[in-house]
Amino acid sequence: MTFIFHNCRVLDAVSDRVREGHDVVVTDGRIAQIEPTRLRLPHEGRVFDASAYTVMPGLIDCHAHYTLDPWAVDPFSQIANEPVGMSMLRAARTARDGLYAGVTTVRDAGAPRQLNFVLRDAINAGLIPGPRLLAPGCAITITGGHGMTFGVEADGLVELQRAVRTQMRDGADVIKIVASEAAMLTGPEAGVEELSQAEIDLLVAEARRRGLRIFSHAQNSTSVIRSARAGVDSVEHAFLANKEAISALREHNITLTPTLAVVQVTLERNDLTPAFRERMERIREQHWWSCEEAIRQGVNVVASTDCGEPCIYPSLLWRDICLLHDRGLSRMDAIKAATSRAAELLGVADHVGSLQVGKQADLICVPGNPADDLTHLGQVQLVMKAGEVVYTR
Ligand SMILES: [Zn+2]
Repeated sequence: MTFIFHNCRVLDAVSDRVREGHDVVVTDGRIAQIEPTRLRLPHEGRVFDASAYTVMPGLIDCHAHYTLDPWAVDPFSQIANEPVGMSMLRAARTARDGLYAGVTTVRDAGAPRQLNFVLRDAINAGLIPGPRLLAPGCAITITGGHGMTFGVEADGLVELQRAVRTQMRDGADVIKIVASEAAMLTGPEAGVEELSQAEIDLLVAEARRRGLRIFSHAQNSTSVIRSARAGVDSVEHAFLANKEAISALREHNITLTPTLAVVQVTLERNDLTPAFRERMERIREQHWWSCEEAIRQGVNVVASTDCGEPCIYPSLLWRDICLLHDRGLSRMDAIKAATSRAAELLGVADHVGSLQVGKQADLICVPGNPADDLTHLGQVQLVMKAGEVVYTR
């Protein structure tokens, strides 16, 4: 089975240039050829006139909660109070909408009752459309800690070790831990650390024992520094991180998932109380500074939605890419933050994240040239996952 994107612009997300007038040939789910367009149309296989489009790798969302419903007023209480079947049907909608917006791979950031395993398995079985989901099961947090609504509570070294082992036994692709409070929920003054250095060290060692990657929700400086020293793969948010904390990321070569979209899009809602708006504006100021400092210091940053917060829809990844550019990444680096660099962080770069011969055909078509105008990424026209066209606009 061959599919040809004919006469398109190619953005491979590896080099810094785009190539005009190319054919991308997909055979048996893989990218078989990327060649300059010949005068005559190839006549084998299905030919798609892509002359108006850029063909590029499918997008990768490095932090999203696909089982928390962004259409809910309060996703956390909704999922705690409704039948699990209803929650899964909502999650199916989220997965479909993400895929149809061009998101072909997602690192889920934690679900109650390990529901992301069910979602992942349903997608892989072809029951529902959705991105390839790397699922951690429950996020691992302390009793009463941030994440108790999308994770499992555990205290002390023995319980924490058991919590990681439980996620791994039940099918975790990756481990998610919660090292600090959440400023959006408790305010910047409450950027409290939750896990000790010894605890994070143990959690990382336990994940590594089974060869899994691990990422850490850390918002204040202490939790960012502890996570960096422990050697997690990525730190999430770092909203309140100071210069020393950002330097620790650089020093230990840790990726930052700044989750810019969740703060920005929340601030664009018109139903916030004045007190919450004021707090969010203060957080945004610190957040932008920490992200800019990370970019200045050359820390690797990746794109994400934090989908699952109210009004943070799975289709908003393009907003985060634009915001990364606003904070200092070049347009091409912002695109790589949602493709090739994201794939490297997730350990899937051998298969996806770039448009190269031999890679799996997870591809999208967008109008115009996103390297000139990133908003084109919000107008995905066609999505191919593993060589199959799963969406056309
Ligand atoms: Zn999150």
